[in-house]
Amino acid sequence: MGHDSAGLLADEREIAYWDDVPGRTRGGRDVRKLPKFAPGGETRRDPLTGQVVVIAAGRQRRTLSSAGGDCPLCPSRPGAPSEVPAAEYDVAVFENRFPALGGPVGGRCEMVVFSSEHDRSVPELPDVRMETIGRAWADRTAALSGLPGVEQVFVFENRGERVGATLVHPHGQIYAYPYLPPVQTAVLASARAHLERHGECLLCSVTAVEAAGPRVVASSGNFVAYVPEAARWPFEVHIAPLSCVPDLPSLPDEERRELMLLYRDVLARFEALFPGGPTPYMACWHQAPVRHRDVLNHLYVQVFTTRRAADKWKYPASSESGAGAFLNDVLPEHAAARLREAYGKRER
Ligand SMILES: [Zn+2]
Repeated sequence: MGHDSAGLLADEREIAYWDDVPGRTRGGRDVRKLPKFAPGGETRRDPLTGQVVVIAAGRQRRTLSSAGGDCPLCPSRPGAPSEVPAAEYDVAVFENRFPALGGPVGGRCEMVVFSSEHDRSVPELPDVRMETIGRAWADRTAALSGLPGVEQVFVFENRGERVGATLVHPHGQIYAYPYLPPVQTAVLASARAHLERHGECLLCSVTAVEAAGPRVVASSGNFVAYVPEAARWPFEVHIAPLSCVPDLPSLPDEERRELMLLYRDVLARFEALFPGGPTPYMACWHQAPVRHRDVLNHLYVQVFTTRRAADKWKYPASSESGAGAFLNDVLPEHAAARLREAYGKRER
């Protein structure tokens, strides 16, 4: 749906391409001998918290960048086939070979490769590529929302080994969850209570306050980026539309472009925060749940890092991991000032 060309990998996983200049056909046959793609795993529900846990033991054998050898996300070359059969590409999306979701669990995990160049980062990508990535995310969100049982389409990027990225090649992932994850469940409950009490969308109220407050980091005509009042992480930014927009597919092309450029601006600020190398980050796209749009219908993007100083990291320890109780050492208003100043310091 929406892609510019598509094909199948050797194990019959789907791959599709989105181009900066649409209309090309990306060829290339996957010549690898791969065992048939058969995701395992199961869901179990924790009787204490009521939360679903996906048990995906098969992922233990997944590809690590430190394992040496060729990058699985670079274009295939003669004698060095990768996950992407095309000799060149702009944006490629394919099913994760070692998925946490899919098969008996339901849902689906996809890889989204942002560039065929191994050493790029998102803040270095040109405007047109940001548009292409936004178009791919929107198309995949629409397609995955239509899969049976999918409750939440979650687009994200882990950037840097420190925050769990196992590959350096610029890429993100999309998880189409067959259940509503804990954060979305909590936000849904807050949104429902807010709607009943104030007759207004929760995020419309929050963004109106934040857009006029001291924690704004950057903004454009239709979107605002701010450090949330009760940030959990040392540096955390939310980017949200100023009006109710549920998800990427609902944005007109021109507004999606505007959002993607503001998003890139925020990532560049994170990368520039500390001397001695780009700051690793996690970027999470919270789109409206597939089946609760009557209550929670407002997209927001959450970007954060666990780095709190050049040489200090926030480790989710007993309080955060055991009790779910977050303690933040950085004043959100201070974090916002630092992020406002960070822009442009990065060497290109
Ligand atoms: Zn690569």
